[in-house]
Amino acid sequence: MTAIAPTGPRAAGVHWDLSQLVSDAASARQLLDEALISCEAFAATTRGTVATLDGAGLAAALAALATIDNALSRAGSYVGLRRSVDVNDDEARDLEAFADQAYVRAANTLRFFELEWIALDDEVADALQAAPEVAGDAHHLALLRRYRPHRLAEREEQMLAERNPAAVQAWQNLFEQTVANVKASFDGGEGERDHTTDELLSYVYSGDRALRRGALETVYGALEPLTPILAHCYDSLVADRLVDDRLRSYGGPMAQRNLSNELDDDAVEAMMVAIESRYDIAHRWYRRKAQLLGLDKLALYDQYAPLGEGRSVGYDESRALVRAAFNRFSGEIADVSEAFFDERRVDAEPRQGKRGGAFCASVAQASQPFIMLNHTDRLRDVMTMAHELGHGMHFTYSARRQSAHSFHSGIALAEVPSTFAELVLFDHLMEHEDDPATRSALVRGELESGFATVFRQTMMARYEQDAYAMRADGKALTADRLAELWLARNQRQYGDAVELPEGYRWGWSYIPHFINTRFYTYAYAFAHLASLVLYATWREQGPAFVPRYLDFLSLGGASSPGDQLGAFGIDLRDTATWHRGLDELERLLEVAG
Ligand SMILES: [Zn+2]
Repeated sequence: MTAIAPTGPRAAGVHWDLSQLVSDAASARQLLDEALISCEAFAATTRGTVATLDGAGLAAALAALATIDNALSRAGSYVGLRRSVDVNDDEARDLEAFADQAYVRAANTLRFFELEWIALDDEVADALQAAPEVAGDAHHLALLRRYRPHRLAEREEQMLAERNPAAVQAWQNLFEQTVANVKASFDGGEGERDHTTDELLSYVYSGDRALRRGALETVYGALEPLTPILAHCYDSLVADRLVDDRLRSYGGPMAQRNLSNELDDDAVEAMMVAIESRYDIAHRWYRRKAQLLGLDKLALYDQYAPLGEGRSVGYDESRALVRAAFNRFSGEIADVSEAFFDERRVDAEPRQGKRGGAFCASVAQASQPFIMLNHTDRLRDVMTMAHELGHGMHFTYSARRQSAHSFHSGIALAEVPSTFAELVLFDHLMEHEDDPATRSALVRGELESGFATVFRQTMMARYEQDAYAMRADGKALTADRLAELWLARNQRQYGDAVELPEGYRWGWSYIPHFINTRFYTYAYAFAHLASLVLYATWREQGPAFVPRYLDFLSLGGASSPGDQLGAFGIDLRDTATWHRGLDELERLLEVAG
């Protein structure tokens, strides 16, 4: 183990080293230019020949495409990572525009390959897919063909793609700019000043009830005059997606998402029904929390109110805690995790011009992943560090065994390793943490984040279903109609355990998932419950579980969620699976007291 020089408060000086990816902006441009030349060369030799390829020929084509993918992803990630730590970096902004253009050109040049592959007769494609030369990408090839009934002719696909910036992205941009420009004057305890939506929403974690209530009232008050615009953005996108579903012969508004998640419509519905049948777990906690706060009834703005404070945790201690927790699970995992720090693939210091939040960037199959954090020495920051390292392990293990095509899992599985890594840390902390206030803050934090993911995201997916059904029925999605759909679903989720303030009718208006990726919401609930089931399985099986888990991490997108979780005995079609996860939440509720 290498000695670590102590880090100052708030991860001072912990910056990543992006020169490992690309040495500078000029090299990134060169990399993109070369990738585009490779695209043209590939198209020149391969276009019109896919039907004549044998196994070895198909493998060679896939390898060429993987090389292009790795180059484009590496250059694009370099740009994105640079932008994320300095939003005012003009050189990176120019490079981003250049990279965006390169992506569109590459996609248009290479689109023929997928279309020719999809156009093959089943017998020809089945035989090719079974060729030993392409064994590693067999699932990827099969998945592409599942879109066969929904693909249009090449010219039509190109026209739709070219119209996308005006027909789709314009509404998404208008939405994003409208929400980003919200500035409301508010006194958060340091005098009146302008606050953004995110800043106002962060007061829900404050210990001061008047501040929590005031911040939420201010945010909804600021959003209200914008709701006609925000509703119109959503209405236009929903209408456009319904047309797309019709042109492509999809059976309903969730069908595209379920297909890309590789989940059956029935399995998704059964999961949502199981979750809704257990809303009472949260109701019990909200009643208990009201008592602990000395209130008759909890209001929406009390939902995340702190009940005592966990101790603060500096960056070096966070790193040591995560290492110890992972090491208790598997020494190999702990080493993979430590490499992020040793190789300067973590940027943790919050600073001016850096984006908020945290993420792990997969970068590319042939590169190493990077992690961005904003470490402010709070207990929550340790959990976030474990979460992002969970993604990091998934990318690292998957990159070792998979090609660029099979490297990424779908969004249903993407949050499983990250949530599971948090649970591994949680388990360790519960065994070793002595401070009672910190222990209870940990359990309650875990419980409340479980509710926010499992219950709230399911409620949001139901709200989306209602909105699509209303639009399909010929009714425009006005702000007032959306408010009614939203309140009805929320009243069901919160029951009579939580008072919903008047302004909450606009709670739907600023949520980007509805605008950017329909029905992304339920994938969060899916992953959280699946992780809780894995956590229960680990506790039952002990060390025998670990090698199977490492194998799961290595699969990436090489097989379906059903097959990958099936290896642990988890059956996605069996409602009992979801109840096992929900039982875990109930167990936490009992520990939370
Ligand atoms: Zn995540």
